[in-house]
Amino acid sequence: MSDKDQLTMPELTDRIEGFFAEVPSLLAGVEGTVARGKAYREALYDAGLAGLDVPREYGGAGCGPTAKALFAKLSRGHVPEEDDIFTIGLGMAMPTLLEFGAEHLRRRYVEPALRGEEIWCQMYSEPGAGSDLASLQTRALRTANGWVINGQKIWTSRAELAQFAICLARTDVDVPKHKGITMFVVPMDQPGVTVRPIRQITGAFEFNEVFLDDVVVPDDHVVGEVDRGWPVAVALMQNERSAIGAGGGRRPVPFEMLRDLVHDRGRATDPGIRAALADCYIGQRLAQLVSELEAESVDAGKPLSAETSLGKLWRSTNGRAAAALVSEVAFAAGASWKPGDDREDWAFAVLDACALSLGGGTDEVQKNSIAEKVLGLPRDPYRTDKVPFRDLTVGTQRG
Ligand SMILES: Cc1cc2nc3c(=O)[nH]c(=O)nc-3n(C[C@H](O)[C@H](O)[C@H](O)COP(=O)(O)OP(=O)(O)OC[C@H]3O[C@@H](n4cnc5c(N)ncnc54)[C@H](O)[C@@H]3O)c2cc1C
Repeated sequence: MSDKDQLTMPELTDRIEGFFAEVPSLLAGVEGTVARGKAYREALYDAGLAGLDVPREYGGAGCGPTAKALFAKLSRGHVPEEDDIFTIGLGMAMPTLLEFGAEHLRRRYVEPALRGEEIWCQMYSEPGAGSDLASLQTRALRTANGWVINGQKIWTSRAELAQFAICLARTDVDVPKHKGITMFVVPMDQPGVTVRPIRQITGAFEFNEVFLDDVVVPDDHVVGEVDRGWPVAVALMQNERSAIGAGGGRRPVPFEMLRDLVHDRGRATDPGIRAALADCYIGQRLAQLVSELEAESVDAGKPLSAETSLGKLWRSTNGRAAAALVSEVAFAAGASWKPGDDREDWAFAVLDACALSLGGGTDEVQKNSIAEKVLGLPRDPYRTDKVPFRDLTVGTQRG
């Protein structure tokens, strides 16, 4: 099934269902996160199902957003978790390159990402620039040999696996902070890029500090225009929120597992637990419905907007509610467990849940965005729109 002929929706449905019926045997015996993720992606590409909405000239199937939405619906619960290593590349970096990138960047990077040959990371956050991302201090200077970047990034998911990064750096300090930012594609495998893993409360290492010391980036690896990277950065974040809202990246505890847990621990007749379980079901359905409405809107030709914060917010709110229920039911007799104990996996789910409301922008930031850009409420009063960046007191920049 390697052809990419235009399929009717019933044919596409058959193809997707047929593909997922074969996935367990495809992955049988394949060990390790990267190997399993790549095996899945390669098979998806060969089945003509990778990048359903990506134009054919860039390696996609060229079937449009309806096909993508159909895939999202039919694949729910069947995609191996190892595919998450591609979420940043496919859900964030590639849509941004397709919308804002120069032709040579699209031709070079989109197809290998769809095939699962290259992994991407997102170098936005810095120690002094998280929610207030526009305060970033990483500098890029233009030289005769291209751009030279210096600075520090943090919380960079999957930088330890990535060959490429989407990176924001400051290219002009004499203008207000939202101006003078440029987006780059940075090859990670080069001297000057140091990736240091950060150990999380769960024991996992899946994000990193990244130090950039005289890192060289080709002149033509700017995405969009020099000094005008902020709107491009925002567009990427909308894709990020949409991808998370649709279930990409970190996964909350699935409802079916919650329901089984409540039954197995004999708590199904407890009124408080029943109400909490019903709330989790409602939250999960709402997150799905918001995501489906968004897909319909894209299908109708509307661009992504600040409304993507709705899906992201529902996903994180619901994920934390699920974790709270787990902690009440699985740990009713105390919060301790032994390695190998059946509560170990539940402990991971509980400890990991706080990340849902941080990654991709915090819940408060999503609410600010909905308040200002969707509801039209007055903007944050503490704005510095008129002050040149070099005069701001941000991060390590003091006076
Ligand atoms: C699992 C995970 C993965 C991540 N992956 C990446 C990645 O791959 N690449 C990357 O660049 N970053 C990544 N991040 C970083 C993430 O984007 C930041 O953690 C997030 O933007 C918050 O920034 P901060 O941690 O600096 O917190 P801060 O911005 O310091 O916020 C601290 C608290 O203050 C609140 N706050 C801040 N400003 C306001 C405001 N104006 N109004 C109301 N409340 C406010 C916040 O909501 C938060 O509760 C990841 C984070 C997590 C947890």
